[in-house]
Amino acid sequence: MADRIPLCEPYLFGNELDLIGEVLQSGYLCGDGPFTKKCHEMIKDRLQCGKALLTTSCTHALEMTAMLLDLQPGDEVILPSFTFVSTANAYTNLGANPVFVDIRPDTLNIDESAIEQAVTSKTRAIAVVHYAGVGCEMDKIMAIGKKHNLPVIEDTAHAIFGKYKGRPLGAISQLGTASFHHTKNFTSGEGGALLINDPAYEERAEIIREKGTNRSQFIRGQVDRYTWCDKGSSYLPSEILVANLIIQLENFEFIQSRRRELYDFYVAELSLWAEQHDFQMPAIPDDCESAYHLFWMLAPTVDLQRRMLAWLRGQQIEATFHYQPLHDSTMGHRWGYKKGDLPVTESVASRMVRLPFYTGLSMEQASRIVDAVKAFDDWE
Ligand SMILES: *Cc1c(COP(=O)(O)O)cnc(C)c1O
Repeated sequence: MADRIPLCEPYLFGNELDLIGEVLQSGYLCGDGPFTKKCHEMIKDRLQCGKALLTTSCTHALEMTAMLLDLQPGDEVILPSFTFVSTANAYTNLGANPVFVDIRPDTLNIDESAIEQAVTSKTRAIAVVHYAGVGCEMDKIMAIGKKHNLPVIEDTAHAIFGKYKGRPLGAISQLGTASFHHTKNFTSGEGGALLINDPAYEERAEIIREKGTNRSQFIRGQVDRYTWCDKGSSYLPSEILVANLIIQLENFEFIQSRRRELYDFYVAELSLWAEQHDFQMPAIPDDCESAYHLFWMLAPTVDLQRRMLAWLRGQQIEATFHYQPLHDSTMGHRWGYKKGDLPVTESVASRMVRLPFYTGLSMEQASRIVDAVKAFDDWE
């Protein structure tokens, strides 16, 4: 029996224990030490964002955006339904109502042409997700935000270091968030970052991240004691985790070129087959540079998706589906959403086939996966 190929796994470079050992020996294990400072600069340099603050997760960075916006019960946030639960929970946790917008059938990103009709007098923000590493139509989205005086938040969990019209994703709108979870392109195990491009949010973001205190100013010697100033929580990652992340970021070129190579291989090997069998391949608009987070295809029917996934799993290949629409979930129903409300989201979610995709996936394994897809013959 062939070895099982997982959907994804983190990539290690071999020197992790050295750097983690350095942290342990330094005796400084909590957050915002020298490793975190270095990492903030690395992210800022590469993204050209205003400020980067490492957090314990992307979920927490999203929660910080909700606090920064001072969301109140009854406020509305516009977002896609085809996303990870945290994009919604961050806002609904503070009592805001999610206003779900459908996605585009080509990139599976929020449909920019459907955003404006979702704006009401209660809308406080537009949160978008750059799905699979490919940028949303940011010029149009930023124009809607500007017209209605709404900040835009880019959930860049899939897309950190991808670009839209030459501009790094996460650095285009007022606020962005990144994830360094085990499954993402760059990982510290668990981790994330808040990206701040509108300086008006900088001071409060530091306070919210430091339990609602101005401890960051105290550490910089700007105030002689620190005190309770605002809402907040504890969002600093340990230096131990940050050491791991630094190694990943130092190997940026390797990670991204490997992922690009895999993506291009799947496209080259499967495009003709997909056309012949009515599978839809992913699209990258000409003005976008993907971050190559994952590889998806859409089966022509729900039934064929199920059979293809079962077939691949039988071949020891851990292919899978992705997000279950948030609007058609137990929580989504609480706001009155129901099946049928967002047809593209529902159709895409039920037909998706994701193939294994990770930095350490060898070309040999990728060939085995492609051959297995092409060998599928359960069409009737
Ligand atoms: C992974 C992910 C998150 C959550 O990231 P964590 O770091 O695990 O909290 C949020 N949004 C999207 C789109 C994601 O893919």
